Amino acid sequence: MKVLVINCGSSSLKYQLFNMENQSVLAKGIVERIGLEGGMLKHQPADKAKVEISENIPNHRVAVKMMLDALTDKNHGVIGDMSEISAVGHRVVHGAEKFSGSVKITDEVMDVLKECISIAPLHNPPNIIGIEAARELLPDVPMVGVFDTAFHQTMPEYAYIYGVPYEMYKKYSIRRYGFHGTSHRYVSMRAAKFLNKPVEDLKMVTLHLGNGSSITAVKNGKSVDNSMGFTPLEGIVMGTRCGSIDPAIVAFIMEKEGITAEKVNDYLNKKCGVLGISGVSSDFRDIEEAAGKGNSRAKLALEVFAYQAKKYIGSYAAAMNGLDAIVFTGGIGENSISIRKMICDEMDYFGIKIDETKNNVRGKEADISADGSKTRILVIPTNEELMIALDTVSLI
Ligand code: ADP
Repeated sequence: MKVLVINCGSSSLKYQLFNMENQSVLAKGIVERIGLEGGMLKHQPADKAKVEISENIPNHRVAVKMMLDALTDKNHGVIGDMSEISAVGHRVVHGAEKFSGSVKITDEVMDVLKECISIAPLHNPPNIIGIEAARELLPDVPMVGVFDTAFHQTMPEYAYIYGVPYEMYKKYSIRRYGFHGTSHRYVSMRAAKFLNKPVEDLKMVTLHLGNGSSITAVKNGKSVDNSMGFTPLEGIVMGTRCGSIDPAIVAFIMEKEGITAEKVNDYLNKKCGVLGISGVSSDFRDIEEAAGKGNSRAKLALEVFAYQAKKYIGSYAAAMNGLDAIVFTGGIGENSISIRKMICDEMDYFGIKIDETKNNVRGKEADISADGSKTRILVIPTNEELMIALDTVSLI
């Protein structure tokens, strides 16, 4: 069975085609700059050379068509025709309280997704456009929606209610939702397998550290808290997002800089984080390089990031009354040896001791804890696309 996984953003569409017999990737790619100048498809078949096609891509329907053409092309394609695609799995950012698991997409589900736009105006519209384009071009293929928020729907009410009047929750659905759920679910399952223990017996903190970063308390296989909130802006400081700040700062900046609510939202999402602190870049490789050359603001940005991550581990250990494992994933978690060390250093009070030699690893599953570390420290590369494909198979 072949399953196509689609992750549609406002101007890009990422895809992977899986052969579910052996969970291998037949081809993957990205359509970039949809609706902008300089549209481009980058298509990588598993056993052939990468192909890049530049052309104007006016909308998502054209992007989906380009992807399907690439997959079925007689030179660089990997399937004979579209009928070989048995199902499509779509990543959807926000399922609000409507979806606590993945669902088969129907007209009714599409209506509910559209209702969720009001609380996820930045993220859900492109996901919906992608689903609509795929349904139009593959009308007979079953499709499944997999939500970033779904895994976190097990959070207890006291973890998701904010200190604002309860009416705000009832009226506008203002509460913590948590994000990156597909990644946290995948790595917590893999970590349990790695440790050869049932996930139901484990208390874990999973750290998805990438351009966006979120940290989850996973107790007995269920998410009980996540550092992201009503939107993916809350939590630890990120590439360009400010993370948790005193909410009074928002009104203060608006007043001092004379900017609107929309502008300040954009500012907090795109101009802050380690980019804003360092003044160097949002990319941790650049920041680490600058810090290595003595740039003090770059060094400070790394320290702020690691310190905030450390505090989440401590608070989630308290929330779960114990901690068996911490799991690093995402571009930074999987690859940054120095950030993992900074986060885990001086945590022996919690039984966390990193082994510097074992920590010398990138991008593969590994146990990097020192002998005698009560809490195991794992690196588990995430694979959200595979998780989406697996959910898709189980639902159709
Ligand atoms: P996204 O959230 O967009 O999926 P990723 O999970 O790919 O992002 O993470 C991107 C981040 O990972 C970037 O900040 C990048 O600098 C960082 N990263 C990737 N490789 C390394 C590395 N070898 N060392 C340090 N940071 C890395």
